[in-house]
Amino acid sequence: MSSNIGVMGHPIGHTKSPVFQQAGLDELGIAETFEAWDVAPDELEEKVTTFRATGFLAACVTLPHKQAVIPLVDELTEAAESVGAVNWIFNRDGKLVGHNTDGTGFLRALKEKTGFDPAGVDAVVFGAGGAARAIVYALKLAGVARLTIANRTVGKAQALASEFSEGRFKPDAIGLSRDELANCAPYAQLLVNTTSLGMAGGPAEMATPILADMISADALGYDAVYAPPMTKFLREVENAGATSAGGMTMLVYQGIEGFEMATGQKAPVDTMFAAIEKAFKSG
Ligand code: NAP
Repeated sequence: MSSNIGVMGHPIGHTKSPVFQQAGLDELGIAETFEAWDVAPDELEEKVTTFRATGFLAACVTLPHKQAVIPLVDELTEAAESVGAVNWIFNRDGKLVGHNTDGTGFLRALKEKTGFDPAGVDAVVFGAGGAARAIVYALKLAGVARLTIANRTVGKAQALASEFSEGRFKPDAIGLSRDELANCAPYAQLLVNTTSLGMAGGPAEMATPILADMISADALGYDAVYAPPMTKFLREVENAGATSAGGMTMLVYQGIEGFEMATGQKAPVDTMFAAIEKAFKSG
């Protein structure tokens, strides 16, 4: 018998979501097990159908299903619509609502864990994939003054910039060369890595999109990568004398918003952070 809440992806073995979500459920005395479901693409439609069952609460959605589930739900929230991806599905009396908490989770992580307010700042986002979409959406929402999207494949950065351009919000799109970065990165108060560079098991764990000499000491450098907790990018940020923050806080806050919408209760934030920090320490 399957539980009424969990995370689905493929593969799913690496997920840390059950650790902190279960701690939250237990703390509130909610008798549910937060499961991890390995769902292959050809099993996705059938799995999503089960989410309509009476008593089912919600599913967190991770790679590679964040876009594939869009046609399988009944309704999208504004955030899911804007980001173009779903990372939570809620069962509302048999109707499935697709939502996205990656961008708002990022903003809450900045505010709660670093005290940083992106309103009116110059920002650079490295990368133009799924995480970048959520973060560009979030930074637009938060009212950054100027945004540059820097990506290895410039065409993808251009597409993302033009998709989110609206009124005075017009992101620039550039490549990752030092010459291109020299015009924006040293002046930015916020630098966000959303590339897979630095990620354990990714294309280049010891790589970074930028070096310390192009980072202002007044900047905040945030890495969406959360495994390992200390990346080469964050080391460069610290070498520049700037403030660094790793992606675990975004991961937990996207989960906290989902938890609160699923249970209708305020999440025990400290307990959930303590659980994931313990899990990271023990590997
Ligand atoms: P994605 O959609 O596959 O995008 C990958 C990005 O990395 C693209 O911009 C890609 O550039 C760039 N890239 C890959 N290899 C590169 C290389 N060798 N040199 C330069 N750029 C390279 O992946 P994603 O879903 O956005 O995830 C990216 C990272 O964010 C992952 O580490 C993931 O774990 C993390 N993440 C964290 C959270 C969180 O809650 N903290 C949430 C989502 C994702 P091209 O366009 O040129 O290929």
